[in-house]
Amino acid sequence: MSSYLVLARKYRPQNFDELVGQEVLVTTLANAIKNNRLHHAYILTGIRGVGKTTTARIIAKTLNCLDSSARLTAKACGVCDNCRLIAGSKHQDVIEIDAASRTGVDDIREIIDSIAYAPVSATYKIYIIDEVHMLSNSAFNALLKTLEEPPAHVKFIFATTEIRKVPITILSRCQRFDLRRLDEKEILAHLKNILAQENLEAEELALELISKMSEGSVRDSLSLLDQALASNNHQKFLSASLVEKMLGLNDKIKIIELFEALLGGDFSTSLKIFSEIYSYSSDVAQLNQELMDITHKTTSVKLVSGYRLDGYSKFQQEKISEIAAKISLNSLTRIWQMLSKGIAEINFSSSPKTAFEMLMVRICHVVALPNLQKILLDLNDTKNSKEENFVAQKQSEINDKKEDLDLVNEVLRSFEGAKII
Ligand SMILES: [Zn+2]
Repeated sequence: MSSYLVLARKYRPQNFDELVGQEVLVTTLANAIKNNRLHHAYILTGIRGVGKTTTARIIAKTLNCLDSSARLTAKACGVCDNCRLIAGSKHQDVIEIDAASRTGVDDIREIIDSIAYAPVSATYKIYIIDEVHMLSNSAFNALLKTLEEPPAHVKFIFATTEIRKVPITILSRCQRFDLRRLDEKEILAHLKNILAQENLEAEELALELISKMSEGSVRDSLSLLDQALASNNHQKFLSASLVEKMLGLNDKIKIIELFEALLGGDFSTSLKIFSEIYSYSSDVAQLNQELMDITHKTTSVKLVSGYRLDGYSKFQQEKISEIAAKISLNSLTRIWQMLSKGIAEINFSSSPKTAFEMLMVRICHVVALPNLQKILLDLNDTKNSKEENFVAQKQSEINDKKEDLDLVNEVLRSFEGAKII
């Protein structure tokens, strides 16, 4: 498809009313333009891909549009020469500078020298300086004087991902707008809207995964959607499994799901998930190792506040934190011990698959056991309060649990004696 235009470009907002999720900025700026109460310098801050440069171009277009009603309605026509050239970053009066590559004082001097000249074909000469925090100190100082009293035909629009690195002397001379990170629901709605316009369909989970992975950046979400559509050969329907595969989530998420099922003592679900994993990877020893790794990570999350889960996606991190919150340390210790013992069993078995399945049986039985220590503590408390009925009830509960434990021990002994063939 040679005519295919990437979604991020095709759906780049061309006017204030198309900016998704930035209502405060849109209202304030649109009103300022309508009432002709313009500041001479603006600074736009927010994470990458949230629409800073796009917003800067919309301001430039609205101020310079040749349609006389544009400023009254704060809506650029989008078709006049000025609008088209600005949208394509080709207008000689709208100068876009990337401060990441032009940080020096000489670069800024060049700008300052050109400021005195009137715009060629636009109403305002507009300087858009991206990643402005990258400018050197001397460059900032050179800029400062101009920023105090710029000619009436000049506007500055700065953009930055790191507002704290911009000197206060610069900040105090600008009107600041914080472009906020979109939440998953807003991105999801935006993606759905675009798919509908493209006359395409997708499984809900596919779009949810993309929304989660894009972490609040509209541009990232559209790039991911583009990648997914390309790997789907631009077919009409996009499935969740394709997106999972593309994002490399397939394996890890499945393993986390298996871990959760095992900790819940749910053998049939565990077996089902294991079969799925085994269908694309028969390295059982590796799977055992990864479960141990997740056990270690979950235990660390439980014990160390603010523990960083490097190498896991945001979605996976949330899932692990969720498990850590609901599972006891006792269960985590038990599963760790059993997985550790499992290494040798898997390595020495002639059928690692069978050995692992039997290991899952044991884990499901053992982790599902109630915490005996807690019952004993309860019992102690109750003894002190002399509620004998309650004591008797607890004692009978313990007897029941002891029977369960005896049964499990018996099963365990039979496993240890058995040679798995
Ligand atoms: Zn126009």
